Amino acid sequence: MTTHTPPRRVAVLGAGFAGLAAATKLADAGLDVTVLEARGRVGGRVWSQHLDVAGRDCVVERGAEFILDGYSTFAALAEQHSLRLVDSGMSYYVRELAETPEVTSEVLSHAGQRAAALARELERPVSVEEILQLLDLPMAVDQALRARIEVSAATAADLVTAEALDHVASFEPLPSYRVAGGNQRLAVEMYRTLGERVHCCEVVRSVENIDDGRGAAVVRTSSGEHLFDHVVVALPLTVLTGGHVYVPTSDARDEALARLRQGHAAKLHLPLRSTPSTSAVLSVPGRFWTWTAVDEHDTVAPVMNSFAGSEHGLAAMAVDAGPEQWIRAARRIRNDLDFNEQEPLLSTWSDDPFSLGAYATHAPGTTVEDQTALEAAVGAVSFAGEYAEAEFTGLMEGALRSGIRAAQAVLAAARGESDRTGARTDEVHRAGTR
Ligand SMILES: Cc1cc2nc3c(=O)[nH]c(=O)nc-3n(C[C@H](O)[C@H](O)[C@H](O)COP(=O)(O)OP(=O)(O)OC[C@H]3O[C@@H](n4cnc5c(N)ncnc54)[C@H](O)[C@@H]3O)c2cc1C
Repeated sequence: MTTHTPPRRVAVLGAGFAGLAAATKLADAGLDVTVLEARGRVGGRVWSQHLDVAGRDCVVERGAEFILDGYSTFAALAEQHSLRLVDSGMSYYVRELAETPEVTSEVLSHAGQRAAALARELERPVSVEEILQLLDLPMAVDQALRARIEVSAATAADLVTAEALDHVASFEPLPSYRVAGGNQRLAVEMYRTLGERVHCCEVVRSVENIDDGRGAAVVRTSSGEHLFDHVVVALPLTVLTGGHVYVPTSDARDEALARLRQGHAAKLHLPLRSTPSTSAVLSVPGRFWTWTAVDEHDTVAPVMNSFAGSEHGLAAMAVDAGPEQWIRAARRIRNDLDFNEQEPLLSTWSDDPFSLGAYATHAPGTTVEDQTALEAAVGAVSFAGEYAEAEFTGLMEGALRSGIRAAQAVLAAARGESDRTGARTDEVHRAGTR
C-alpha cells in the first residue's frame, strides 16, 4: 500500500577521498551504502608507502602529500580519526631556485603574489599565460614563475586559469603538514569505519539511469549488474571524459567538463645516507622540485622527495623511459645531499588506468555556471571528486568537500522524496477515510 521508497541503496563509485567522504556521510545518515573500488586498496591518489632507509621507517607519499592552508575538512576528519598532523618544517609554497639563485625565493614569492593580485583585480577568468604577459617580468623571474606554476598546476601556463595562484600554486609562505604515518591513513580509517560496505577489486564499466518512475540506476561492473536507488560517481576526471566509464551526463555538464584539464605529474623518492636539513629547491628547466622534510619521528627524514609536473616536465625528465634522467638531474641540483645506493621509487599517474593523470585545473573560459553543472545530479546519479569542487579544485581538501557535498545532496533528495511520498501516503489515507 505505502509507496515509501527513499534512495535507501546508494552506490559510491571510487574509494578515494571523495568517495570515502561521501560514503561515510551517507552511512552515518543510515543509508545502505556500497562502495565499489577498482583497486585492491583504498585512497586512490593518496598512497603512502613505507621505505626502510638504513633501519629507519620512512613513510613517503607516492601521490598527495601536502596538507595546505584552509584544509578545514581534512583537519576535522583527521581529528575524528585520532590522526596527528605533522608540520613538515618546510613550506610547500616557498622554493629556492637551483639554476638561477639570483632569483631568490623572496623575489619569486613577490612575483607570484603580484600575479595573484593582478588576477583578482581583473575579475574575469584569465590564463596564467595572460597574467605573465601582463606582468612583463625580467626574463629569469618570468621563467621561474612560469615553471613554479606549471609544476604545481601540473599543466601548461596557457591551459590553466590564474585562480590556481590562490591554492595549488600559491606563494604565501605558510606551513605545510602531513598525516603522521602517511596521508593514506585517513582513507584507511574511513574504510575501517565503513567495513564491509567497501568492495575492492570491482571495476565499474558504466552507470545508467533507469526510468522506473521514481529514479534508480544500474551499475555495471566486472562482477555483473547492480541496481541502486542512487549512485555517487567519485571517479577521476579523465576516467569519465576519456570514456573509460560511461555515466549519464547533460549538455551543461559536458561543456563544464570540457573546460577542465587533468594535468600530469610524477614523483621520485631517493633514500639518503644521512639526515639533511629541511629544504625545497625548484629546477626551472627540469620542471621538477625536490624537498626534504620532517616526518612523524619529528626529525627530517633521510629521503629526497621530488615532484615533476606538466606534460612538458615529464617529457623533460623522460619519465616514460624510467627514473634515470630525473635521478641524474636531481643529483645535479642537490649535490648538498648524501644519496645512498638504495633503489629509487618512481610513481607515475598518467599511465595508471584508474587515475589517468594527476589532478584537475580550470582551463581559461571557465564560467560560474560550470560549477553548478558539475555539482548537479543527472537523474539518480550524483558526482564527486577533486575536479568537482570550486575552491579546492585538484586537492585532497576539494575531494573530501566534494564527497560531503554530494552526500548532502543525496540526503536532501531522499528527504524530498520521502516528504513527497509522505504527502502521497497522506492523500491515500485521507482518500481511504472519505
Ligand atoms: C603526484 C600527485 C601529487 C599530489 N599532491 C597533492 C598535495 O600535495 N596536496 C593535495 O591536497 N593534493 C595533492 N594531489 C591531489 C590529490 O591526490 C587528489 O586531489 C585527491 O586525492 C583526489 O581524490 P578523489 O577521491 O577525487 O580521486 P581518487 O583519489 O583518484 O579516487 C578515485 C577512485 O576511483 C577509483 N576508480 C577509478 N576508476 C574506477 C573504475 N572504473 N571502477 C571503480 N573504481 C575506479 C580509483 O582507483 C580511486 O580509488 C596530488 C595528486 C598526485 C597524483
